[in-house]
Amino acid sequence: MKDTTVKSPDAGFAPHSVSVEEVIATLATDLTEGLSSAEVERRLQEYGPNTLPEAKGRTILEAFRDQFANFLIILLLAATVLSAAIGEYLDAAAIAAIVILSAVLGVAQEWRAERALQALRSMMAPTARVLRNRRVEEVASPLLVPGDIVLLEPGQYVPADLRLADTKELKMNEASLTGESTQVDKDARSIVDLDTPIADRTNSAFAGTIVTYGRATGVVVATGAGTEVGRIAALVGKQEQEQTPLQRRMSGLGRWLGSAAIAVSVVVFAVGAVRGNDIVDMLLTAVSLAVAAVPEGLPAVVAVALAVGMQRMAQRHALIRRMSAVETLGSATVIATDKTGTLTKGEMTVVRVYLGPGEPVLDVTGAGYEPSGDFRRDSETIDPRRHHHLRLLLLASVLCNDAYLQQKDERWHVVGDTTEGALLVVAAKGGLTREALEAEHPRVAEVPFTSDRRLMTTLNERDFGYVAYSKGAPGALLPLCSQRQDGDATRPLEEEDKRQILAASDELAAAGLRVLALAYRPLEQRVAEEKLEEQLIFLGLAGMQDPPRPEVRDAVELSYRAGIIPIMVTGDHRATALAIGRDLRIARDGDSVLTGPDIDRLTDAELRRVVDQTRIYARISPEQKMRIVDALREKGHIVAVTGDGVNDAPALRGADIGVAMGITGTDVAKEAADMVITDDNYASIVAAVEEGRKIFDNIRNFVIYLLAANLGEILIIFAAVVAGTPVPLLPIQILWVNLVTDSFPALALGMEPADPDIMSRPPRPPQESVVTRPIALVLVIRGVAEAIAVLVAFLVWLYAFDRPEEEARTMAFATLVVAELLKAHGSRSLYRTIIDLGPFKNMYVVGATILSFGLLLLVMYVPPLPDAFEVSLPEPWEWLVIFGLGSTPLIVIEAMKLMPWVPTSEPKERRTRPRPAP
Ligand code: ADP
Ligand code: MG
Repeated sequence: MKDTTVKSPDAGFAPHSVSVEEVIATLATDLTEGLSSAEVERRLQEYGPNTLPEAKGRTILEAFRDQFANFLIILLLAATVLSAAIGEYLDAAAIAAIVILSAVLGVAQEWRAERALQALRSMMAPTARVLRNRRVEEVASPLLVPGDIVLLEPGQYVPADLRLADTKELKMNEASLTGESTQVDKDARSIVDLDTPIADRTNSAFAGTIVTYGRATGVVVATGAGTEVGRIAALVGKQEQEQTPLQRRMSGLGRWLGSAAIAVSVVVFAVGAVRGNDIVDMLLTAVSLAVAAVPEGLPAVVAVALAVGMQRMAQRHALIRRMSAVETLGSATVIATDKTGTLTKGEMTVVRVYLGPGEPVLDVTGAGYEPSGDFRRDSETIDPRRHHHLRLLLLASVLCNDAYLQQKDERWHVVGDTTEGALLVVAAKGGLTREALEAEHPRVAEVPFTSDRRLMTTLNERDFGYVAYSKGAPGALLPLCSQRQDGDATRPLEEEDKRQILAASDELAAAGLRVLALAYRPLEQRVAEEKLEEQLIFLGLAGMQDPPRPEVRDAVELSYRAGIIPIMVTGDHRATALAIGRDLRIARDGDSVLTGPDIDRLTDAELRRVVDQTRIYARISPEQKMRIVDALREKGHIVAVTGDGVNDAPALRGADIGVAMGITGTDVAKEAADMVITDDNYASIVAAVEEGRKIFDNIRNFVIYLLAANLGEILIIFAAVVAGTPVPLLPIQILWVNLVTDSFPALALGMEPADPDIMSRPPRPPQESVVTRPIALVLVIRGVAEAIAVLVAFLVWLYAFDRPEEEARTMAFATLVVAELLKAHGSRSLYRTIIDLGPFKNMYVVGATILSFGLLLLVMYVPPLPDAFEVSLPEPWEWLVIFGLGSTPLIVIEAMKLMPWVPTSEPKERRTRPRPAP
């Protein structure tokens, strides 16, 4: 960020100590219209974007320097200087060049990973609901300007510093700013002293704090670096990058293997020196060997593979917030998911309206959010303008509502909760709109919806007195009603009426509809919020359709096949849940449903007994969801759980993989989650699991590839030195091979497409390491095969054919390079042959082979490189031998895949085990 100076509209402007009107006037804005697009554009120019100045990252130069902050590299450079000192200039220069080239490649990889992460971070930019051009719009928070009118609701992070203009029961958590974790009440009407500390400015909301309850409207008074948190952020240093468990394990493995490699190098040096080899030569050889064999490049390649994998996941609508989730996903055994919007489309349409006992159910025509359609009783159309009871119900639908309808590109959209959007649409079909009614019936108080209460109530003024409007789950609302509307009159609500209403509700739910009850209560005087929800008059039920997402059925089947149990955890009615669950084949015939009250009756031990047998949980509160997650985890499951509300945060944090909804999710849920699903779709979670498995497979493949190569190199030098033959590879050759294999083929292996069976095998045990015992064995065999091929070439040329050392070494060098390049193709899968995989299915590997082989030819044929590498030109028949010997490790690898008794990571029986039928 170029500009970190604090900008506020006017120095000395203290919005907390003046009236809202004065703030509005100072900022030249309007509470009912908001700013115009042109004005926003102008202010954006003037004040800059609403983003915090980022801590400066490492510069390229620093990243480059860090590549040399390594004991072995320093040792290598020292040995190089030593060899230059005794006159080996060309040698020294070549080694220095390779070290620099390695560093450049290392920086390039880091940069690539960093860039990928940066792109992902920008995709997670938060949005805010803003009044502009007289309309409520969803705007990316960085585009807010002073004077914007922002709407706040529970679960939201405040996007900029606001002077509150209107508050309804607003409570905030300002811990991020003040460190105080208790809720604070806010009141727009208060005016505080100029020097009031931030924590006590009850009429202001600050960027980065959280709305925990109620709602509010506020005027943006400061953005970006000008906000209170911006001032703090300028002082905070940069954050350390988080390492995933896999990366930590890889570092551990790398350290262990590194120590081993160094030990061998020391032995090589000692033995060579005792045998009377040239000391400086031996030193250089030993150090080069150590540099090559210590798996230094491993963490970088793993980081790139993770970052690229995260990008792939993002394309498939899964944004990873914590990198460790990438690995955990591959081990998931349970996905506990919401129903509404995740398994279903979340496009609600009210299709039935029930007005009470004795009344027939009305059908509502029309589709989607298009506000046209009508109300039918049998074949007769009902006009709500002439039907007092229906009109009252629609009035409640509009006034007890926080959503907006918006027309964009000929299509109607809902801003806000889709359940509420559907109620606005049904009311609009009856001629009632929010715009027309709100002025006449302004809301003066409210009790907000929470998923524990499953209820919401507003208090609205009217020409004489007040009316309370309530809506919510029938089971929650009915106990608060004492009367019912019947035509133009009201009657007492008898037990028999309640029974009939609940029966009607069950019937609608059994058809897969989401059911909401509506009620009202005229009041002569205002009453306190706690007293609003009593003695209500029942108005009726609205049954809304929310069809299952078509792609979810396949995703559910895929989950079962992959050994992952899909579980529905919903706040909705049990019959609705079961109908949808059956339709999507999450539930099987005869499956039972556990409801919130059922769960409350179970002890933890009892819950554990049934928890992974039950597929559908209905009427579940966030606390009960948490208990389900805990019980599943205690049974050893790796649990992915979805959530969207503020109260879901503990379950999201408590699960192995917390999944927040990108569209309906609150900021709090997203913050608590490990992963955000941008399309709110269950199928995207399953896709992310698949990507997670693939990433692990690929990382494992290139780790085996790299380690086998390192092992081969060590064995070659070690065997030669111990046997007392000349050293088969020069230091520069060792370094060169290492440079080439560490980069292109390894990175290319990370791009391997998913194995076709990847979702037919059971989840990987989370504690399973990359290199298991059977894999270590495979790895050793591969390394040994490579060493033998190279040593045969070297020794036969040296002793059998009596060729000069340089020619024998050339054979060894070329054989080693060819062997590693061919081996890369066999390393694409642990158990599938190249033919099975399709030799050209991963063009990155093909490309890396061609590139690396081209580099080999460059070194051998383009002066002065042959002199620097001390290679001679092989004859055509020698090239044939090089390729013949060079392909033996590949042949060994492929042959092992065909031998069923050779253990690999995917034992046959695990691959082909019959799957549990859903
Ligand atoms: P889910 O998202 O799993 O379907 P919710 O917690 O959103 O569950 O909703 C649970 C129940 O609360 C719904 O079945 C409905 O009866 C009621 N409900 C949902 N949204 C609202 C709302 N905005 N106002 C009042 N009641 C609601
Ligand atoms: Mg919901």
